[in-house]
Parts: sequence; C-alpha cells; structure tokens
Amino acid sequence: MTERLCLVHYHEIGLKGKNRSTFENQLVTNLHRALQAFPVSSIARISGHIAVETSDRRASEELAAAIRCVPGVARVSLAYKCGLDEGEYCAAAIRALGEAGDFATFKVHARRSSTTYELHSLEMNRLVGAALCEAFPDKKVDVHTPDVTVIVHVVQGSVFVYAASAPGVGGLPVGTAGKVVTLLSSGFDSPVSTWMVGRRGATCVPVHFSGRPMTADTSEWLCQDIVEALAPSGVVGRLYVVPFGERQREISLAVPQGLRIIMYRRVMLQVAERIAQIEGAKALVTGESLGQVASQTLDNIAAVNEAVTMPVLRPLIGSDKQEIIARAHQIGTYDICCETAPDCCTLFMPRRPETHARLRDVLEAWESFDHEGMVRDLVESVEWRDFSQCPSYHAPKGPFREHHRELRGANPAER
Ligand code: ATP
Ligand code: MG
Repeated sequence: MTERLCLVHYHEIGLKGKNRSTFENQLVTNLHRALQAFPVSSIARISGHIAVETSDRRASEELAAAIRCVPGVARVSLAYKCGLDEGEYCAAAIRALGEAGDFATFKVHARRSSTTYELHSLEMNRLVGAALCEAFPDKKVDVHTPDVTVIVHVVQGSVFVYAASAPGVGGLPVGTAGKVVTLLSSGFDSPVSTWMVGRRGATCVPVHFSGRPMTADTSEWLCQDIVEALAPSGVVGRLYVVPFGERQREISLAVPQGLRIIMYRRVMLQVAERIAQIEGAKALVTGESLGQVASQTLDNIAAVNEAVTMPVLRPLIGSDKQEIIARAHQIGTYDICCETAPDCCTLFMPRRPETHARLRDVLEAWESFDHEGMVRDLVESVEWRDFSQCPSYHAPKGPFREHHRELRGANPAER
C-alpha cells in the first residue's frame, strides 16, 4: 500500500564533513520533541533527507506545518512512499502532480541511492513521464525550466515520490551552536531576537527582569506565554525571572535622572552575564535595534556594553520595526506582546533620558551605588521555570544558588 509521509529537506550548510551526523542527529531529536502531539511512528535519516512516518501511514498537512517550524528544516514535502512496483510509483506520481497546484509545464527527475533496482534513472524518467503525459494531456514537458518537478527517488526497496514542497524556517538545529542567555522583555523585539539566535542553532535561556514588587507580575506571565508560543521551534529550555522593582527604585534615587536607564541596563547585563556563567552559556542576546529608542544610540549601547566582558549579540540591530513586527506575527508572539504590562523599565523612567551618554559620567554614576552587592543579591533572588520543549537544554548541575556561591568565591573582587 502506498504510504503518505513527510520528507524533510535541510540545507547543505553546516553539513560538511564531521558535522553532518551531529547536525542530523540533533535535528531528529528536536523533531521527536516538536512532534509529540502527532502519532509519529518513526523519524529516520534516509539518503540526505529525514523521513517522518506516522502510525496510520497517512501524514497530514498539519504534521508538515509543525515540521516547518523546527530550525534546521529548509523544506518539507508531503511525499508518497511506494514499493518498487512501476504501476504503484507511476500512480503516486500522477497524484503528486495533481496536488501541485497551478502549473503549465513539468518534468520528472528520477534518482537512485543505495539501490540495486534494475531500472536506471533515465528509464524511470521516461516511464513516469509517459504516465504523466497520458494523465495530464493539456500539460507540457519542459526539462529546462519546468513549473513543477516530480521527484522519484529510489532508496533501497522503496520509492519516494513528491512534487511540491513548502519552505521551513531554515537555520540550524537548536543545540548545534551552544547556549546563550537572552534578555527577554514582554515587548516585540526580544522574543524575535531570541527566536533568531535559536534558529541559528543556539539553545536559549531567557532572563526577564520584572518590576515586582513595585508592579504587578503581569509581564512575567506574558514572558511565560511568549516562551509557550515559541514551543513549536523548541528554542527555549528555561526562563529566569528577576524581581527588579526594589533595586530599580534604589538606582533611581542614587543616579542622575538621564542616566537611570543606562544604570538599569548595566545591572541587567551583569546579572544576565552571571547567570550565563552558571549556565555555561557563551553569549548574551538583546533585542536592540540601532536608534529605535533613546537607549539604543551607539553611545548608549557602548556605555551599557562596557559593564560586561561576554559577547553581547544583537540580532535585530539592523532591522526596521516593520520587519520585526512581521516576524513576531510569523513566530506567534505578536498578540502576546500587544498586551501592555509595566515591566521594570517602565517604572521609574526618566522624563528626559540621556541619548548620548559620556562614559566618564556613566562610570561616575556607576560608582555612586553598591552595584556589586546589588548584582549579587539579584542573582540570589532569581526564580525560574523549566520548559520541556527544548531537548538540547541541560540545567546546571546541583542547586542554582550553590553554583552562584561557587562562582562568587572564584571571583577575587567578591571574596
Ligand atoms: P523590546 O521590544 O524587546 O522590549 P524595546 O524596543 O522596548 O525592546 P528597550 O526597552 O530599550 O527596547 O530594550 C532593549 C533590550 O533590552 C530588549 O530588547 C531586551 O533584550 C532588553 N530588555 C529590556 N527590558 C527588559 C526586561 N524587563 N527584562 C529583560 N530584558 C529587557
Ligand atoms: Mg521594551
């Protein structure tokens, strides 16, 4: 019986040499986790593709749609899997071409991998081509620039047949690029920047600074909703929340109004860097986009960046708001981020923030409050929630706070 299954195509990038099996194995693992809601019976590598089969042998459009969200997937085809019987695979080719939408011209592309099947690809092209010409008498063959190509791929004892494929999100499988800590507010930008580094293969650990106890905890719930919305892509393993309201009030009392935001951000980055060290993450990620708001001028980015030594990645630095919003729609975070919730940064906001901070003034303000004690206490007070959507996430071993103490002991400035 002809079976319906999903064939996953991935980019050749990152596949060269030794990387190839690491990449493929991680993609198979991630697909298993992402497709838990479907009756998947097997996910297996076959000759440059991954085949996803279901127990009812009838893979659906919904399954294909879920696969397309997984980073590392370039395209997905809802394919037919037949035996080596000519009549069976020709019939499958007719069905596949019939499902390919509007077209005027087509061609057949037969391939054979690891098979002893007696027909050669040229013979198969001719055979299937003749069946298609008979079934679609008003369509023409065009071997150079066809509207549709019907692929007939023989692998061992099976023939895979498909004509259409839909694009996936591309990128690399989550877990192949190491771990990052992302700064996640409940605004539009940082969920998108988190997803973008996740799509490049990074396992993401977001940290959210909430205004609690000076504000309600709405922004924390929104951040959890954002992480749930990102579940289909499997990029996030754990969300940290840092109650920051009290400390923000202290900073606002201690430093010149115009420099408040820069001080908040420096503290936030240092806390995130400390969490990253505990987590074994190698970079921080923010949703900043150049010039978008007062705190995102080059001067201010430099003044904030100076507080940490770990690389700070800013995947949206050159993006326009419209592009970011379009992406937020695509990844399902837009509606959540439309809800307004005061997070730490709307509280104690200055009326006129400095747009071009001078480093000398910044460092002077920085020394006017006990930032070291503050960062230490904030890291002590972190809370977190684990999400099961990301198979490459491994929590730091042992209780978090013990790790923090170990780390502090290792830093001469804090002994
Ligand atoms: P976003 O849409 O991500 O909130 P934004 O346009 O509001 O960004 P800013 O408020 O200047 O810009 O924030 C810049 C970046 O700083 C954010 O993208 C995020 O990475 C980080 N950030 C801001 N507020 C918080 C917060 N409360 N918790 C964690 N990170 C934050
Ligand atoms: Mg914001």
